[in-house]
Amino acid sequence: MRGAVWAGWAMTAVLFLSALLFLPRPREQTGQEPREPSARTEQTVSAARRDAEVVLRVWNGRETVETTLAAYLPGVVRGEMPAAFEPEALAAQAAAERTYICYHLQSGRKSAHPDADVCTDPACCSAWTSEEEARERWGENYAVYEEKIEKAVAETDGQIVLYGGEPILAAFHSSSAGRTVASGEVWRADLPYLRSVESPESEDTVPNYYSVTTLTAAEFRDAFLAAHPEADLSGSAEGWITGVRFSESGRVEAATVGGVTVPGTELRQILGLRSASFTVSAEGESLVFRVVGYGHGVGMSQYGANELARRGKTWREILQWYYSGVTIGPIPGK
Ligand SMILES: [Zn+2]
Repeated sequence: MRGAVWAGWAMTAVLFLSALLFLPRPREQTGQEPREPSARTEQTVSAARRDAEVVLRVWNGRETVETTLAAYLPGVVRGEMPAAFEPEALAAQAAAERTYICYHLQSGRKSAHPDADVCTDPACCSAWTSEEEARERWGENYAVYEEKIEKAVAETDGQIVLYGGEPILAAFHSSSAGRTVASGEVWRADLPYLRSVESPESEDTVPNYYSVTTLTAAEFRDAFLAAHPEADLSGSAEGWITGVRFSESGRVEAATVGGVTVPGTELRQILGLRSASFTVSAEGESLVFRVVGYGHGVGMSQYGANELARRGKTWREILQWYYSGVTIGPIPGK
């Protein structure tokens, strides 16, 4: 169940983020006009804002509703990270998601949903899980898990990840194969805070860290030709994939399939592999892909964050581990 949500995120994040990175980022706030301070916040004179003061518009698949970060964020953390994770990892996730939303508040997702800042579709923005859904999913663990989620959000209230004083594109993924991936390796834009860094998770701490995808020659041919009809996939499958090049982070940078050279990320997508960190071998009539980790590999690794938390790192340290050269600070006022 969790995997399904992550699969949605992981498979589509590449698509929409890569599109996003090439869009101009209008500097005007794309959300609502700043509001008059309410009675509750009248003492707020600094520019910094708490979650309850940040209003956003959310497309829930039926309508656009206005809500606040304080009301919305717990649902995103419930939807995007297992509640069994360490408290500091959950806090890092809460701050990363808050950052992600603030980034969209500034830059907008107008092409996806013109009237809303974010949506609840994990294939577009982030998964969102209501209290009722969580109650059903978590069963007897509900009270404990819900308290952890709410604490993760409250503890990081109003705090986001900043680079040059601006909210970053706080990309994250499930697990990495030893190192995360620089954004330029997956998307063309090389963001200075999304560099390749070590990540401590391993097969001991990540379920399905190693996975195997086996495709018959016919299955592989059908899948690849659907994307690249010009490829020559005649003869024995053994000779179809050549010139596999690996990047510094250990992912497949590119491979040549039937004479067509494609990025490893595209091959991953075509074949539905869990990550672009894989090897391939021809075995009998099949092609066997041995894959490490899960997700695009850019930004914070969630299982890595959990492992760092186990080793005593705080949520701030975890974020600064995965996002290079950043500071953690209040949401800039507008
Ligand atoms: Zn969306």
